[in-house]
Amino acid sequence: MGKVTGFLEIDRRDRRYAPASDRIRHYKEFLIPLSEEATKDQAARCMNCGIPYCHTGCPVNNQIPDWNDLVYRSDWEEASRNLHSTNNFPEFTGRVCPAPCEASCTLNLSDNPVTIKTIECAIVDRAWANGWLRPEIPEVKTGRKIAIVGSGPAGLACAQQLARAGHDAHVFEKNAKPGGLLRYGIPDFKMEKHLIDRRIDQMQAEGVSFHVSVNVGVDIAATSLLEDFDAVVLAGGAEKPRDLPVPGRDLSGVHFAMEFLPQQNRRIGREPIHTNEPILASAKHVVVIGGGDTGSDCIGTSIRQGALSVTQLEILPQPPEKENKLLTWPNWPLKLRTSSSQEEGAKREFSVLTKELRGKDGAVKALVCVRLDDNLKEIPGSAFEIKADLVLLAMGFVAPVHDGLLDSLGVAFDARGNVAADQQGYATSVARVFACGDMRRGQSLVVWAIREGRQTARAVDAFLMGSSLLPR
Ligand SMILES: Cc1cc2nc3c(=O)[nH]c(=O)nc-3n(C[C@H](O)[C@H](O)[C@H](O)COP(=O)(O)OP(=O)(O)OC[C@H]3O[C@@H](n4cnc5c(N)ncnc54)[C@H](O)[C@@H]3O)c2cc1C
Ligand code: SF4
Repeated sequence: MGKVTGFLEIDRRDRRYAPASDRIRHYKEFLIPLSEEATKDQAARCMNCGIPYCHTGCPVNNQIPDWNDLVYRSDWEEASRNLHSTNNFPEFTGRVCPAPCEASCTLNLSDNPVTIKTIECAIVDRAWANGWLRPEIPEVKTGRKIAIVGSGPAGLACAQQLARAGHDAHVFEKNAKPGGLLRYGIPDFKMEKHLIDRRIDQMQAEGVSFHVSVNVGVDIAATSLLEDFDAVVLAGGAEKPRDLPVPGRDLSGVHFAMEFLPQQNRRIGREPIHTNEPILASAKHVVVIGGGDTGSDCIGTSIRQGALSVTQLEILPQPPEKENKLLTWPNWPLKLRTSSSQEEGAKREFSVLTKELRGKDGAVKALVCVRLDDNLKEIPGSAFEIKADLVLLAMGFVAPVHDGLLDSLGVAFDARGNVAADQQGYATSVARVFACGDMRRGQSLVVWAIREGRQTARAVDAFLMGSSLLPR
């Protein structure tokens, strides 16, 4: 354990954001890291609980008390080794994970959990800066070839684990660069993309081959993968967005979040955006429908593009400011959270249902909405209009796209339309085909995708070799 009395003596302190007035002028990350001393102090607050609930709160089961103790004792290199034993990409989770581990930290019962995510990020950033993260090239090759479709966090984690076990891992990606939603969904101001490039370099040195701009099921037959490879892993994400079937949906200026966000990420990454009609929020009244992470990303991007106003609508009632810890701990509680993007100047409205989109000359001009009571029933006479030149639909994702890849392979789906596979073997209904990440579990988190990629790699390794030394 770090400092025995640390949690009694030291208050929680976390990374701060650069002021909103500065950060909205650019698309770079704006989290200000803690100093080395402050990070060690924060690690010293860990109580090394007899039952570390943070282990199970973290989907990759990071051994949090162990690396907190190593950081407190300044053994950063061993802390990095420990952290990487459970998480392939802690620099991603250290930036974008919502940190369910902190909700389950015992110190959270008094509202001041250990700053686990910040310490995780400090360990991995220091490891890269000091050159401790080198390619882990296998000594023996197995001669087995595996195709991984999709290069989001699930596909990347799976490919890295398989390559380290000596297999030939081939990642197929329909976009021009690998990374999935890490690269094209999550804005640069939350996670800069050179962090992905660095990992891709490491993975290539470990023997992973990337085949980009290949849409499997369209550019090449999905079934050809079964002929050319010993196993196929489906890690294509859950890309079918939830639509808003109301009058006026077909007006111009109404777009899915994932039509809008990738354009900005591509501009920053100097990639062509492949359209004559760029979607820009500049000088527009923007309404974002959907109160989640994707909605927040639309807000931050719209504000940086120079929107006149940004309003975010959520259909559910406003959650409580504080949860009842004795009822919710160690689980992830429902409570009011304010993202950095929301802080930058969005107006938030809860319990609002959009009934219609109105336009002029084919372009959206306003939303007609009604207010809902706590049972989601419309309040009579509550109809109102909101001015809008750009409407962004960020209401989540329904399931993976079935056309092409999935339908041609003939895999079975679960009741929600995700690829059916359990969390032990990750095997689909088609022999030698496995599935992981959002494609299997539905829309989720980066950390869950990493977990599933790792576990699928183990399942595939065991399937091909009879047993596996890869960790689950
Ligand atoms: C805008 C946005 C912001 C988010 N922010 C956060 C956040 O802050 N924190 C967090 O934890 N989670 C966040 N998420 C969720 C998170 O990004 C996903 O849960 C995670 O990326 C899923 O990983 P994955 O590897 O399963 O799929 P994805 O990241 O979706 O990757 C799938 C990849 O497969 C490729 N692909 C699909 N079909 C084919 C095909 N037929 N051939 C070739 N390639 C194919 C796709 O192009 C894509 O690159 C966010 C999601 C969105 C949309
Ligand atoms: S990956 Fe997420 S849940 Fe796990 S330790 Fe890091 S921040 Fe916490």
